Amino acid sequence: MLFTSREAAGWENDTVQLAVRAGFIRQFGSGLFGFTPTGERVRRKIIRRIKTEMDTIGGQAVSLPNLQYKPIWEQSGRWGSFEGEMFTFENRDGQQLCLAPSHEEGIVHLVEGIVRSYEDVPLLLYQVERKHRDDHPRNGLLRTKEFTMKDAYSLHATADSLDEWYGRVRDAYCRIFDALGIDFVVADAQNSVMGGSASEEFIAPVETGSVELVYCEAQGCRVGVTDESPDASLFEGDVCPDCGAALTSGEGIEIGHVFKLGTRYTDPADLTVDMADGSERPVLMGSYGIGVDRLVHTLIEQHGDETGCRWPVTDRGTAAPYTVSIIPLEYGGDIQAVADRLHRECGRATALLFDDLDQTIGERFAESDLLGVPWKVILGNHFRETGEVELEHRDGKTRFIAPGAVSELVGQASSGSE
Ligand SMILES: [Zn+2]
Repeated sequence: MLFTSREAAGWENDTVQLAVRAGFIRQFGSGLFGFTPTGERVRRKIIRRIKTEMDTIGGQAVSLPNLQYKPIWEQSGRWGSFEGEMFTFENRDGQQLCLAPSHEEGIVHLVEGIVRSYEDVPLLLYQVERKHRDDHPRNGLLRTKEFTMKDAYSLHATADSLDEWYGRVRDAYCRIFDALGIDFVVADAQNSVMGGSASEEFIAPVETGSVELVYCEAQGCRVGVTDESPDASLFEGDVCPDCGAALTSGEGIEIGHVFKLGTRYTDPADLTVDMADGSERPVLMGSYGIGVDRLVHTLIEQHGDETGCRWPVTDRGTAAPYTVSIIPLEYGGDIQAVADRLHRECGRATALLFDDLDQTIGERFAESDLLGVPWKVILGNHFRETGEVELEHRDGKTRFIAPGAVSELVGQASSGSE
């Protein structure tokens, strides 16, 4: 059951149309999407990659309630400042509540009374949870009313410590996006509703995005400026300040954001730590977000074409829902036995077996490409004649290998070489 669809016309955005055709998402009304089993596979692979990097740099996972009472939002002064983007309501007991659009207040509340000494920090806490914003929906997964974010918050006694951990998270974000095969640049950003001193945005250049972008296309160069950057003084054709290449312009998707918040949220809550010399200091804070659903959209947008999605395979793995499609010319007899064995050896998490007897070989190929599965193993006439299976990459390159070699090769691609 793949949820793929031939009748997915009428979307204002080609990427959303492709995601619907490939059967990854289904709309639940304006600004609300559900993920199907295949879509959820992609989402979970992305989340796993993010969690691995956050754990590696010393992050600790937490889980905060999305439903929150008004007082902590009054304390920070943000109950009114989300300007109608926050879902607020009254419960049956007349209490004011909201669906949290962000969790700075929640993190401060979580550690209040527990973090007391400079020895209790630094702390990096993160979660991967749904967020809610009563936004005007646009471009499918780019702007929705409910979405998944990896949000992280760091707590510090000194500015040096905040600088160090900000850099650590920033580097981890680069590794996450590189591992997923996302092309991105880093732009200075304005702080707006978050408050604080410094912030940077990770922007993926795309054809149809949500911000205007001037950026450097040179390999490994990360220079970018958006129309929302505080110092938007770079223009198309200008010389890149980092590498000297000519800058280009286009649109971008904001996929990640890092903030140095300072004491913006800890001051109102009187969150302080006792220092070694007996003095008391307000806790400094950093806040770091990655839009998970946006990464799904960005990967489809940057790599897909009219025949379907193309999930990159990097040396750290792939976000593809399956790494390999096992496609028998006909599902029966000796070929069926080998197809079943390959499916078992590769594992259900990695391999998709095309065993629908009603499907033609052409339909199987088309469906595999629509899903963006990186490899196809074809069990056809060549296998009957030689005993070797045909391994075809999504880009069309083909080679012939022994059936026994498939699972190792595919397993490496699924998990990366680490
Ligand atoms: Zn450059």
